[in-house]
Amino acid sequence: VEATGLYHIYRERDVETVALRGARLALRPGSWTSLTGPSGSGKSTLLQILAGLLTPTAGAVLVDGDDMTRMTPDERARCRRRRIGVVLQRDNLHPGLDVAGNIALPLRLDGQPAGAIRDRVGTLLDEVGLADRRHRWPARLSGGEAQRAAVAVAVAARPAVLLADEPTGELDERSTSAVLDLLEAARAAHGTAILTVTHNPAVAERAGRSLVMRDGVIGDD
Ligand code: ADP
Ligand code: ADP
Repeated sequence: VEATGLYHIYRERDVETVALRGARLALRPGSWTSLTGPSGSGKSTLLQILAGLLTPTAGAVLVDGDDMTRMTPDERARCRRRRIGVVLQRDNLHPGLDVAGNIALPLRLDGQPAGAIRDRVGTLLDEVGLADRRHRWPARLSGGEAQRAAVAVAVAARPAVLLADEPTGELDERSTSAVLDLLEAARAAHGTAILTVTHNPAVAERAGRSLVMRDGVIGDD
């Protein structure tokens, strides 16, 4: 993924907030980048744009050379589904599917055979320590369980890019390392490019590169 010249302006009635002012960022296959920065500096806005969930006011987001900002909503949804895994701060899980169903969903949309899906879901449930929660509804999970489930969903289809906003925000030390190990496994085994937005030093420590966002622009640490 390569983003250049990103500007984003939120307009609410007659109030304008410039959230991004010329941000650029490249995520190479197999890299892990950590992004920090003060609250309000534009990190979540950037993540949503990279995920194709928000269209920037100006700028380009190239995914394998295709500009996501110029795609139709259908094309963008397909690109997201095929190539991008996202962990947001909330609302990552489909409320109408249990934990196993949520993890299975991206694999089903990808057209994978039932046996492969069952194996992959079982492995991921074990890896995030949710084997005994497989039939729970999202509404009945703790914050930490929901977060671990969200990470399992995001890596399930082995995306080219994984974007995560504070993926360990609600986790204790042990779950934090399980989640970080899962991200590292995706990076090492499938060359998934990872971007973690975090204030947690344990997360930043796993990254090969640290960037800081200030006032809508990204600089080196
Ligand atoms: P961060 O994730 O670094 O805290 P954000 O991207 O959430 O930063 O916010 C960047 C700026 O954009 C802030 O000034 C914030 O108040 C503003 N902003 C974020 N989301 C919205 C929104 N939906 N409507 C209006 N302003 C917003
Ligand atoms: P078991 O039947 O052994 O308890 P699971 O409940 O984990 O196994 O489900 C086995 C497989 O069925 C999963 O890997 C997934 O592919 C699929 N699955 C489970 N729940 C759902 C659901 N709600 N929606 C869609 N597929 C599901």
